Amino acid sequence: MAIIFDFDRTLSIIETYAVGPAAMNTVWGGLDRVKSLEDTLKEAAAAGFRLAIVSRNLKATVMKALDVVKWRPYFQSGGVYGREDIIMGGTGPKSIIINTKIIQEFSLRVDDCIFLDDDRSNVSDIEHKVGCEVVHVRGNGLSAVDIAGLRDWVRRRGPSIAK
Ligand SMILES: [Mg+2]
Repeated sequence: MAIIFDFDRTLSIIETYAVGPAAMNTVWGGLDRVKSLEDTLKEAAAAGFRLAIVSRNLKATVMKALDVVKWRPYFQSGGVYGREDIIMGGTGPKSIIINTKIIQEFSLRVDDCIFLDDDRSNVSDIEHKVGCEVVHVRGNGLSAVDIAGLRDWVRRRGPSIAK
């Protein structure tokens, strides 16, 4: 079981490419959003979901943002992949990383995985080349409604198949 997140405008509310380290606290959308996301990550981790990030941003930038909220530990189970891990200089399909480094590496069933991204072409790539459930995030990153929906998915999926 795994939850695979895009980073920019999915976990974060803005594109963080140009955000300096001093302003990394501005990418999360405030305490309420951070708390509700963190509750969901915690619940998912406790239910046995591996948590991963696959981003076209530099891994170091994603890590800096994660450090602001102290979330690195949540993503040790699934891994954090940045543009340096994606073929064609970061422009290739995310599905390759997901299939090889996450699904095959951890022997996961695609039916037990969900992918969330604000970029329609990534969503379409994962839908067709990975075959797991996908969520196309609209607006400025995962909204309160999106987060509640993810938590419902975790609750429906987790307990029924958790070993
Ligand atoms: Mg994005």
